[in-house]
Amino acid sequence: MGPSGALRDAAVHIKDGEIAAVESYERLSAALPQVQVVGDGTGIVLPGLVNTHTHLSEAFLAGLGSDLPLFTWGQEIITPAGRHLTREMAREGSVLKVAELIRSGVTCINDMFVHGNPDSYASLGVAEGLALTGMRGVVSFGAEDAVGGLCDTEGLGVSRILDEQEALFEIASSNALVGFRYGIGTLLGQSDELLAAGAALCHDRDWGIHTHLAEVNEELLEARERWGHRTIDHAESLGILSSRLLAAHVIWVTESDIELLAERSVSVAHNPVANMILGSGVCPVTQLQAAGLAVGIGTDGAASNDSQNMLEAVKATSLLQKVHHTNPAILPAQKTLEMATIDGARALGLEHEIGSLELGKRADVVLAGGTAELATIHDPYQQIVYCTSPRSISDVWIDGHQVLRACELVAIDEDKQIDRCRPLAESLTRDAGLQQRGWSWLSTT
Ligand SMILES: [Zn+2]
Repeated sequence: MGPSGALRDAAVHIKDGEIAAVESYERLSAALPQVQVVGDGTGIVLPGLVNTHTHLSEAFLAGLGSDLPLFTWGQEIITPAGRHLTREMAREGSVLKVAELIRSGVTCINDMFVHGNPDSYASLGVAEGLALTGMRGVVSFGAEDAVGGLCDTEGLGVSRILDEQEALFEIASSNALVGFRYGIGTLLGQSDELLAAGAALCHDRDWGIHTHLAEVNEELLEARERWGHRTIDHAESLGILSSRLLAAHVIWVTESDIELLAERSVSVAHNPVANMILGSGVCPVTQLQAAGLAVGIGTDGAASNDSQNMLEAVKATSLLQKVHHTNPAILPAQKTLEMATIDGARALGLEHEIGSLELGKRADVVLAGGTAELATIHDPYQQIVYCTSPRSISDVWIDGHQVLRACELVAIDEDKQIDRCRPLAESLTRDAGLQQRGWSWLSTT
């Protein structure tokens, strides 16, 4: 994914958390005879995948109301669950989902916490979960305080929401692997007071912003009703587009919108699986790329994907564009893999640290192979994008630390984590009334 392109019979030397060399295995092994070698020469070494949009805190909500339209789903499932989602649930759920993400080759996550629990700064649990697992990431709190918002946290109040933003920024700042963005769940979900206060705060603190933007057509219609113009126009009027904005989805846009987003250096997180599950529409990926925008790939949350399998999102990115344009060449496998690595890093402003296997970058590295699906390698790009499933991901390093070794998670005890999470999911769905309303098969009785 760097300027050298793909190398055959090569190896990556990891030292002190950094990529110390990328070159011929023969030369490297001769020069470094004492260094441990992982891999047998038949696999593919690639940069860790960058998941540019997810909601780890939705860990316990997979499978709930997935066939509902976006706004109904938000009000029926996400809003009631969010009010009862504690910091402990956010932390333990994040660890659970990080296990799933590591197994699909992810080494960096851009997360947005979209709930609002009046009794707890629950968003901080996500940063704690990342720290427990050694995962690299960026955290945000996408609070919403408008009546009828997608993740309605009405009643928290503007100052309480901004306090939690500060607290999340503080905890993120204590971990070298974790960054922070100011979250706006959706523009429509925020009161005008919170939107203005947040935009001013981001300007003062030089905080980048993460939001969902132009995801469904209803969003444009409701925005027109409320402000007399669409959400992109409203974001522009508040200076949000100019605040290092990473926007998730960006489906319902015109050519002039795309020009404006490019002028403002907005980045995009494309979430094909969630877009298809929710029937949201097709992101104009290639038009955004042609205009110069960095477009990364995201799984989106466990409540709207519902999987956290990044490899599935990578494959779906390519397939959705091919079928939409009835053109198999519209988005080649190499470009798709760039989106999942270096373009994702660029979307997060981390392209100088991660996203490619280049000398001096942090060692976020994945080794795939050893399975029937990757038994013969003819083209590594096509076979990662179209043939690879999590069972082919054998080893993963984040910042030089091995987090998956020979298909075994190093820092996470998956069985124990499942045991820890089941009762939390049961109490969440019970307290939120989701069991009683027939949404969940979980039951405490
Ligand atoms: Zn989302």
